[in-house]
This record gives sequence, structure tokens and C-alpha cells, in this order.
Amino acid sequence: MNARMAAKAAEGRLKNAGLEPTDHRVRVLMAIGNTPYPSSAPEILESVRTKTDINRVTVYRILDLLVEHEVLNRLDLGEKSRRFCLRDADEGEHPHFHCTRCDRYLCLHTDTLPLDRKALESLSLDVQHVDIRLEGICPACLKDS
Ligand SMILES: [Zn+2]
Ligand SMILES: [Zn+2]
Repeated sequence: MNARMAAKAAEGRLKNAGLEPTDHRVRVLMAIGNTPYPSSAPEILESVRTKTDINRVTVYRILDLLVEHEVLNRLDLGEKSRRFCLRDADEGEHPHFHCTRCDRYLCLHTDTLPLDRKALESLSLDVQHVDIRLEGICPACLKDS
């Protein structure tokens, strides 16, 4: 997934979520939308800081807000290790692949691992959060070995 997210797309996404597209929110969302793997809050902060003056608390607050409004997925990998990635407007949350060699996470879009939400509903399950993690060796590490 190398879809580049332009400012216009980020603004649209925020508006659709009922959020005011402030400059900071747009920049945070673009930083995540243009990273093909889930990033940690410090990584996002660093990336946004190269373009604008923003403090840590503001970035963290925006991340929480965007998760709350279902614009982002949050992976909870333990207290100190939360990572964020773009949530697909139609598909919702998606599974992730964890590389046990380099410790990177990759977003797996639902064409490789579809979630049958209808089938889940038919089991009377009200799914509120998806956290499916596959583990193995990523393409970059496979190439190096
Ligand atoms: Zn790897
Ligand atoms: Zn993801």
C-alpha cells in the first residue's frame, strides 16, 4: 500500500468523520496516510515536526481523537508500544503482519485476509475492535537472508 494521501484527501476524511480539518490534524493524518506501515506516536511526531511547529501533547491528542472517530486504527502492542495506521473508510479495521526478525508491522488489507462481517453478525457477535496479527518474516528480511 503506497497510496499517497494529499492534503485534500486528508481534509475530506476529517470532514466525513465530523471533524474540523485544522492544519495540525491534516498534517498528522497525512503523515500516517503516507506511511505504508503502522507508525508509533514518536515516529509520527518526528515526521510532522519536520513540516510544522507542533508539540508532543497536541500530536497525541489528535491521534486519540482520530482513533475515536474511526479515522485511524490503533494497535495496542503493550503500554509503551502503540502504533497507528489509516483505517479504510469502507473496510474498517484490518489485520497486521508482524516480522519477528526486524519487529516491523505491515498492514494487511482485506483482500489478503478478508473479514466476513456478515458471518460474524450471524453469530450474534457485535465486533467492536479487530486485532488479528500474523507473524513471520517480512519481504525485506527475506531478501537479506
Ligand atoms: Zn522484517
Ligand atoms: Zn494497519
